[in-house]
Amino acid sequence: MKLHEFTASRAVAAIRRCEVSSEDLVRALLARMEAVEPQISAMLHVDAEAALAEARARDAAPPSGPLHGIPIALKDNLSVRGQPCTCASRILRGYRAPYDATVVEKLRRAGAVLLGRANMDEFAMGSSTETSSVRATRNPWDPARAPGGSSGGAAAAVAAREAFAALGSDTGGSIRQPAAFCGCVGLKPTYGRVSRYGLVAFASSLDQIGPLTRDVRDAALLFNAIAGHDPHDSTSLSDAPADLSSALGRGVRGLKLGLPREYFLKGIERDVEESVRRAARELEKLGAEIVEVSLPHTEYAVATYYVLATAEASANLARFDGVRYGHRAEKPSDLLEMYGRTRAEGFGAEVKRRIILGTYVLSRGYHDAYYLHAQKARTLIRGDFQQAFARCDAILTPTTPTPAFKLGEKMQDPLQMYLADIFTIAVNLAGACAISLPCGFVVRETTLPVGLQIIGPWMREETIFRIADAYEQATAWREEAPPL
Ligand code: GLN
Repeated sequence: MKLHEFTASRAVAAIRRCEVSSEDLVRALLARMEAVEPQISAMLHVDAEAALAEARARDAAPPSGPLHGIPIALKDNLSVRGQPCTCASRILRGYRAPYDATVVEKLRRAGAVLLGRANMDEFAMGSSTETSSVRATRNPWDPARAPGGSSGGAAAAVAAREAFAALGSDTGGSIRQPAAFCGCVGLKPTYGRVSRYGLVAFASSLDQIGPLTRDVRDAALLFNAIAGHDPHDSTSLSDAPADLSSALGRGVRGLKLGLPREYFLKGIERDVEESVRRAARELEKLGAEIVEVSLPHTEYAVATYYVLATAEASANLARFDGVRYGHRAEKPSDLLEMYGRTRAEGFGAEVKRRIILGTYVLSRGYHDAYYLHAQKARTLIRGDFQQAFARCDAILTPTTPTPAFKLGEKMQDPLQMYLADIFTIAVNLAGACAISLPCGFVVRETTLPVGLQIIGPWMREETIFRIADAYEQATAWREEAPPL
C-alpha cells in the first residue's frame, strides 16, 4: 500500500513503530496532490515548506499525542495563526488569521501537522463548493460532478487520498452532505461539543466543527482530539465528552434504531433509498431492532433554516466592511461608499442573497412574521427529535436524497440547491449529533457513493459511533476508492 492510501489510524501506527516519519507522510501527500489536484482542485492554499518544517519538528521530538506527526487538512474558515483564512471569499483575500482556533490548538497538542487549506463554498454558504470565489472543486468519483458542500474541498481531499483526514464545519449539512457525495465519513457533533472559537461564524446557533475521514475509527480519533469545553466559546458544553474507544467494537445488539417515515417520501431516488434500507436490514442482522418513528415537522426544516441561518449570517457578516479584514474598495469618496463598494466587490452572489434575506427577516414589521415564527418552528423540530429519541437510541436516514449532482446543475436554481440538505438541516436546528458514512454505490454515468446518516441524541456521540463502527466493520464499502 502506498503511503497516501493510509488511513489516519494506520499512519499513527506506522509512525509509532518508526516505519515512516511524519516528513515521509507529508511528502507522500504533497506528491499525491501534485498528481491529482489538476483534476480535483480540493485545496486552496498549501504551504509545502511550512508543512514539511512542522513534520520535521515532530520527527525530532518525542511522541506528543494521539495524532503525532499526522498531517491534517483544514477547511478555509478555521483560523491558523499567520495563515490565510479566506472562507473562499474575495472579501478576505490577503487576510491572515492572528490566532489559532481552539480546534487547531487541540490538533497541535495531539501532535498533528497542518497540511493546508481546503476549498469551500463562500462563507460556507452552498452545497456544491461552486460558490467558492476561487474555483469549483470536482468530485473524485466523477469530475463532472460536485463534491457537495460547503466542506467540499475537505471531503474531496480525503476521498482523493490527498489528506488522511480534514476538519470541516457543518451549519446545515456541510460536513455530512459532502462526505456522502465523496464516499467518506463525516461527523456533525452535538452543538456545543466542539469549540467554535476561531471558526469564522456563519450562523452561530447552528455551526459546529467536525472531522471528515476515510473511516469511522479515524473520525473517532479526530473527534476525541478536538472535543471538550472551551472557556473561549460561551456555547461550549461543560460535560466531558465520553471516551469513544469503548463504543468501538461493541456491536449494536440491544439498540433500537428508528426509521423516520417522513424521510422516505417523494424526492428521494429509488436506489438511494434501497441502499439505506439495506443498511438498516444489515444492522438488524447484527442485532439491532428497527422501529418506525415520526418527525412530523420535517417539511418545515428547510424553510426554518433559511430564515434563521440567513438572519444570523446577516449579523455575523456585518463585520466585513473594509475596515479591519481583507479587501477594501479603492479610493472611496466617503465612509459609506467605502462600506458599500467593499461589500459589493467582496461578496459573491449567494452571500449577498443571504445577507439581503437575513436583513429582511429581521427588519421591523417582518421580524415577528418570519424570524420569530421560525424560532417557534425550530422548537417544534427539536421536540420531534426529543419524542423520537424516547422511542429509539438513534435514527437512520439517507444523508442526501440523491448521489452527487453535476456541476452547474443547480447553480441557477437556489431552491434546488437548498433542497440538497433536506435530510441534514433538521439535525442542526435540533442541535443533535449525526454521522454520515458510505452505505453503498449507485450507477449513473459512473459509480457514485451513497451516504447513510445516523442521528443521535444530544451528547450521545458514542451511540452513533457504536452503530457506525458496527456497520462499517460488517461491510466493505470503505475499501472502494475513486478511480483516479
Ligand atoms: N448548504 C447549506 C447552506 O447553504 C448548509 C451549509 C453549511 O452547513 N455550512 O446554508
